[in-house]
Amino acid sequence: MGIKGTVDLTPAMRQYMDIKEQYSDCILFFRMGDFYEMFFEDAVIASQALEITLTSRNKNKEGAIPLCGVPYHAASAYIAKLIDKGFKVAICEQVEDPKLAKGVVRREVVRVVTPGLVVDPDNLDAKENNFLGAVAADGETLGLACLDISTGEFRVTESRDKANFLAEAAGYHLREVLIPEDLKDRDLLALFSGSDAAGTVNRLTSDYFRRDDAAAVLTEFFGADTLKAAGLDSRPAAAAAAGAALRYAVETQKEHLGHITGIERYETDHFLIVDEIAKANLELFSTIAGRSKKGSLFQVIDETVTAMGGRKLRNWLSYPLVSPERIAERLGAVGDIKEHHLVREGIRKVLGSVYDMERLGARIAMGVANARDLTALGNSLRALPEIKRLTAELTAPAIVNIKQEIDEMPDVKSLIERSIADDPPLTIREGGMIREGFDAKLDEIVAVTRDGRKWIAALEEKERKRTGINSLKVGYNSVFGYYIEISKARTEAIPGDYVRKQTLVNAERYINEELKGYEQTVLHAEDRRQEREYELFLEIRNAVAAEIRRLQITASRIAELDALASLAEVAEKNHYVRPAVDDGDRIDIRDGRHPVVEKMNLTDGFVPNDVVMDMDRNRFLIITGPNMAGKSTFIRQVALIVLMAQMGSFVPAAEAHIGIVDRIFTRIGAADNLSRGQSTFMVEMNEVANILIHATPRSLIILDEVGRGTSTFDGLSIAWAVAEYIHDAAGLGSRTLFATHYHQLMELALTKDGVKNYNIAVKEWGDRIIFLRKIMEGGTNRSYGIQVARIAGVPDDVIVRAKEVLANLEKGELDAVGLPKIAKGKKDTPNRNKDQLSLFRNEDDDILEEIADLDIMTLSPLEAMNRINVWKERLGKKKPS
Ligand code: ADP
Repeated sequence: MGIKGTVDLTPAMRQYMDIKEQYSDCILFFRMGDFYEMFFEDAVIASQALEITLTSRNKNKEGAIPLCGVPYHAASAYIAKLIDKGFKVAICEQVEDPKLAKGVVRREVVRVVTPGLVVDPDNLDAKENNFLGAVAADGETLGLACLDISTGEFRVTESRDKANFLAEAAGYHLREVLIPEDLKDRDLLALFSGSDAAGTVNRLTSDYFRRDDAAAVLTEFFGADTLKAAGLDSRPAAAAAAGAALRYAVETQKEHLGHITGIERYETDHFLIVDEIAKANLELFSTIAGRSKKGSLFQVIDETVTAMGGRKLRNWLSYPLVSPERIAERLGAVGDIKEHHLVREGIRKVLGSVYDMERLGARIAMGVANARDLTALGNSLRALPEIKRLTAELTAPAIVNIKQEIDEMPDVKSLIERSIADDPPLTIREGGMIREGFDAKLDEIVAVTRDGRKWIAALEEKERKRTGINSLKVGYNSVFGYYIEISKARTEAIPGDYVRKQTLVNAERYINEELKGYEQTVLHAEDRRQEREYELFLEIRNAVAAEIRRLQITASRIAELDALASLAEVAEKNHYVRPAVDDGDRIDIRDGRHPVVEKMNLTDGFVPNDVVMDMDRNRFLIITGPNMAGKSTFIRQVALIVLMAQMGSFVPAAEAHIGIVDRIFTRIGAADNLSRGQSTFMVEMNEVANILIHATPRSLIILDEVGRGTSTFDGLSIAWAVAEYIHDAAGLGSRTLFATHYHQLMELALTKDGVKNYNIAVKEWGDRIIFLRKIMEGGTNRSYGIQVARIAGVPDDVIVRAKEVLANLEKGELDAVGLPKIAKGKKDTPNRNKDQLSLFRNEDDDILEEIADLDIMTLSPLEAMNRINVWKERLGKKKPS
């Protein structure tokens, strides 16, 4: 079913094929009247993807052309569906009035919609950005550019550290990414295919990314100064990625990109780095189990009123700060709003009438906004003076800045208010958008139609007087149009300028120049009105678009205010406190709570817990306790409180002091990604490796049950070695929380001064155990497994023996040298014991210890001989005599 080789094409189809040839990688939406039509393969693909009927042109004839179509006013839903399935859609419009067209109406592709380049609000998540990404390499350096054309945000960064780069790129959840066609890096390719962060991958020819070409694209668009200011002149990888993204956007959007007003370069290490694994494990944006937003941290802290505020808060949570000054500034603002209840209430109420000014601005700049969008913008602007007035009481420096930068844009507001009618229609081609009194020419056209009756009555009156014929009538008929009717009896009295139009039985109908002129005016008035309104609308929209930069700054400040007010609201509602954040190493949290778990319906309420960590004696905390005691909750809550503090939020605690953290790492069991086809243990070890390689002394590491995915001894050994490494290795020593059921790890505290043992208290109650949820200093060596085994009906003999073995283990664990004498006791079989169970100690160590403990001064020579004999015996060196 090729396009080529089809016979006898109509001119429209020939036009279709010419255009399709230029957009062969897109589904072409070809506007014909009120429909977008698709033909040939496009029709087949789209009809399946959209579940619409496939028909054909020239049905039953030779050369039938497959065809399907969607009504233009419902197109956005269909486009969304295709984009979701990874297609690109080229929108081809009629670009001249069909009535005026000679031959085929001229058509052009006005825009290409791709997954990364969506502007239609119906197809966007209001509280999330939608970024198009581009990746470029310059030697070892990797550049990442991310462009959201729905808001105009354009960010770039680069990194020489591939793991960092991958983490950063994954964080954007790009729906579409541009890569050079010759890119071979397997890690990068893997990131963009098959992973959760995967979107559509577009391989572009290498010239998009070539240093000079990319720089030229950027310079032409922004001017050389912007490039310098963003430091892109000296960062070829970032510049290449940015150039490629921009060129792609320009090519697909036909240059209506006035809202991309700048480019923001950032360094990832200016923020607390929380990689995708940590984000997922800490359930920042969605839960692990259900992947739902409900139950995530974001859902708890998001009380924003506007969509742009929601996106800002999301961004703050994705990029917590590392500068104590900047954090303090944000915290100060939150505190200020929190304390001023009425102001907060007022601001939040007024924000309720503010629309998504960022995305409205983008659509206005891109020329896709309708009159309702302008009304929405006008209404938003109307709220600004009140917001400014309300913030007058607030004095926190961050808010003072915001206040100063909010531009009420009275000029734009007044233009919209004067020009756009109340409740304008959705379409911009059918009139009804422009307010009366805005444009004299339009008013005249409108008056003609509306005042038709009056005009006719006046003409009638005038002609009656002129002719002296009182029965003269002016009327209208759909076939002949306007006429002056005079009864046959009086026709001799007609003036010379009357021209006969129609003869009836009793009357004649005439027309004169004046009436003819009127007829012309009226008949075309509707068309002329639509045309004039459209013209005016474009003028107004362009005038607003010219102010896009002011609009963007104001929108961004409003978004910040909304996000700050949200944090203040949440702080008050949930009884959070302001954390003290500094450059020190101490993390000291009193009565800390898990922000999400505390909101759940817990029968006995949430039990708060303290934690003290530093980079010295409290740098490695081992938390033991039975399953379900609350270990995971506790270690996550520490990480979440740190993260919240660094994003500038108050925290769920009675008191909190946070020494800045540069990265948060997590290794948490349970939700292993089996869907990726990697074994649980492999995933676990990958993550552990990543932590050991990338953690710094300033990092915070959360480890939950490391080593669980393999046999006990393997697992314990790895856990032990990992712990030692983090504790000891140069360039590590990171603050770490390690929840484990390997009680043996508690022995680390004996030899490592930075290790502290904690356990989560449990009370025994007959055969039951009660979880107290309280963190206590010291270890616990009870896992209550035996208790559970008894409840489960395991025979008494086994339970008794298990207890005996356990008792030995417990004794052994606390030995200074560390060998568990697991199977000592009545069923002891030394050899088996040695081969299978002695992990940290062996018989030699025991003997050495006994020697060390021996008081030689009280020993007789014979006793000494005997002892030595027994030792030899135990060492198996000599048969007992
Ligand atoms: P573990 O990691 O020790 O197996 P979890 O941290 O998963 O235990 O906690 C199990 C459950 O206990 C949680 O789902 C929560 O309902 C409850 N829980 C945990 N910590 C607390 C606490 N501090 N106060 C009240 N309930 C808690």
